[in-house]
Amino acid sequence: MTHILVSNSSGKDSTATLLLATELHPLENISSVFCDTGNEHPLVYEYLRYLEDAVRVPIKVLRQDFTDWWWHRHGYVRDKWPAKLRKPVPGKWVWSAPKNVTQFGHVPADPFNIYTSHRIGYWKWKPAQRELSDMEADDVVARTLAVFDKGPTGNPYLDLCIIKGRFPSRTRQFCTEFLKTKPATEYALELIEKHGSVESWQGVRADESRNRANLAEREDVGGGLVIVRPIHKWTAEMVFEQHRKHGIKPNLLYSMGMGRVGCMPCINAGKDEVLEISKRFPEHFDRIEEWERLVGEASKRRNATFFPAPGDNDTAMERGNVRQVIKWSQTSRGGKQVDFTRLDDSPACASSYGLCE
Ligand code: SF4
Repeated sequence: MTHILVSNSSGKDSTATLLLATELHPLENISSVFCDTGNEHPLVYEYLRYLEDAVRVPIKVLRQDFTDWWWHRHGYVRDKWPAKLRKPVPGKWVWSAPKNVTQFGHVPADPFNIYTSHRIGYWKWKPAQRELSDMEADDVVARTLAVFDKGPTGNPYLDLCIIKGRFPSRTRQFCTEFLKTKPATEYALELIEKHGSVESWQGVRADESRNRANLAEREDVGGGLVIVRPIHKWTAEMVFEQHRKHGIKPNLLYSMGMGRVGCMPCINAGKDEVLEISKRFPEHFDRIEEWERLVGEASKRRNATFFPAPGDNDTAMERGNVRQVIKWSQTSRGGKQVDFTRLDDSPACASSYGLCE
């Protein structure tokens, strides 16, 4: 019999999907999977335990281990970086359009200043890098090796970013790929070996974004795997109604001002979400500040910012490190003026779904 595997984020949509699966299939034929990025709020783990008990469906937690890759990278920095850093890197134009836009037009001519970011339409200039002097190169290698010598931290998100020497961005969202998509796919393949075929149920709704609206409700990807999006046409209200119908509480984070449940914070967090997190969960930004220091130490440029840096996407602005981003989140008028009404700490209902009681 086809096994039903429900992807779980501990958010409202995946919970509604899991509840729907329990209505349509025997419990012994359902399981759920949660990919732990290591950048989660503690309430996420608490909610998963509650949900597992309440629904009586096992939730498998997948947490990536990058130890092998870490030591491979250590060797690469030690053996290859000394020569690489002493050579200049030419700049180049990169096509950076959404996936559904095919490449058109000519590659633009090189910009006047090849060492800074530029953008022409969907063409993005990846700046050239000057070669380093012997002293500078030795310093970068020694500093980076000092981070790697300590061994992996055991936090998947942080280890991945240290290995990459940078944080993900909208155009290079490797966090999703390595911490969620890859482990979930590998796990689904394991279940196919065991059960013969698997339906991967995903709590994706069309009204969340244009990209999600374009997804099919059912996709046979072959090899015994079918992707099913059974709440694709549901509204947020229908999702919460499904919780009520089964007597299941939504994740508490919704009633604490969070519009979505996922990484805390997500690299794609908007201005309001950054402000909300900084007021309610400042310890998460303290952690990100420390991560910026560590990833910066392991980067060639000795600088890494968690939120998109200038040039990383169409709307990117000069935001800088996490403390500057928090300051920006407190401003109005295009980010120039501190708006003291945005600093008001009164516990007004900030939930996008009106869940505060
Ligand atoms: S895109 Fe956001 S939520 Fe997804 S893995 Fe990256 S940081 Fe986490």
